[in-house]
Amino acid sequence: MTDGAATSVPTILPWQQSLWERLWQVRRSDRLPHALLLRGPLGTGKRLFAGVLAQAVLCGKNDDQGLPCGRCQSCRLFEAGSHPEYLLGEPEEDAKTREIKVDTIRELTSREVLTTQTGGRKVIVVDPAHRMTLAAANSLLKTLEEPGAKTLLLLISEEAYRLPATVRSRCQSIDFPLPPPECARSWLRQNSGFADPDLLLGLAGGAPFVALQYADPEIQSARNLALEEFVRVFQGEQDPVAIAERWLEIDRVRLLDWMAGWLLDVLRLQIGSSSQNLINPDQENLFQGLAKQVDSKLAYRLLDQVLAAKSVADSTVNPQLMLEGLLIDWAEER
Ligand SMILES: [Zn+2]
Repeated sequence: MTDGAATSVPTILPWQQSLWERLWQVRRSDRLPHALLLRGPLGTGKRLFAGVLAQAVLCGKNDDQGLPCGRCQSCRLFEAGSHPEYLLGEPEEDAKTREIKVDTIRELTSREVLTTQTGGRKVIVVDPAHRMTLAAANSLLKTLEEPGAKTLLLLISEEAYRLPATVRSRCQSIDFPLPPPECARSWLRQNSGFADPDLLLGLAGGAPFVALQYADPEIQSARNLALEEFVRVFQGEQDPVAIAERWLEIDRVRLLDWMAGWLLDVLRLQIGSSSQNLINPDQENLFQGLAKQVDSKLAYRLLDQVLAAKSVADSTVNPQLMLEGLLIDWAEER
């Protein structure tokens, strides 16, 4: 997941500071709801925030800002990943569908588990919550309706609209929007060592943790190679089926994001948008060339297909067939 890996140093991101302060005030006055839905685009730091919140709730020696002390037994267990009162429900690693199964939720929310051993708080995280099967969501519903007195449920989701309304309505939603660009830029400059944070942020649609991944030279060159292949397929110089097969190596959601960005840049240049507004400003010449050759109807249609493919990218769709379909359309209908 590209949303800020768990860290042992409990810190709050600059753009989440005021959210943290508000939430901790609520917690201090003992009014923290028993279930929170942390929702917003990928790469804004929801998981980092959830981790600090979980550690803070479990720690008994929070500092003035409510941050966990990092030294008590609870914090040491949390940081070692072995806190008995911290439970994480996520998709099984090898599962093709990447769903969160009903058994996983049942295990987390069984009566024995909810009766905490130490008499303290318990934190249950479901991540990404929209990957729960309907049966899993229904099973969680029982806990949402009758939570243990000291249980805090944290649901994390990039696509909260996919959760059943019954689940959503029993959680308090907290939005994690994209940070203000200047805030993201200065954070990225400090954390990536990359000279051009604007390029990274542009490619990442403004999401700092996605941008941080793009600072990785390997990902940069993977993107450049895929773009080259995309153009060559359009020119009829490379076989769409072979490229579809090679693209299976690339993370599916990332690849579809790239394709959407390329098609958007073609369309933007076709309507005379300035190069400053491009998602891929470093490839302006290439896109200027494509914009002259590509039929905008084809670009719009392919963009629709790419976005539709992205919305089901988590499910059982055959990725090879999906990519072949996109690339064959792209190659044949110019
Ligand atoms: Zn502590």
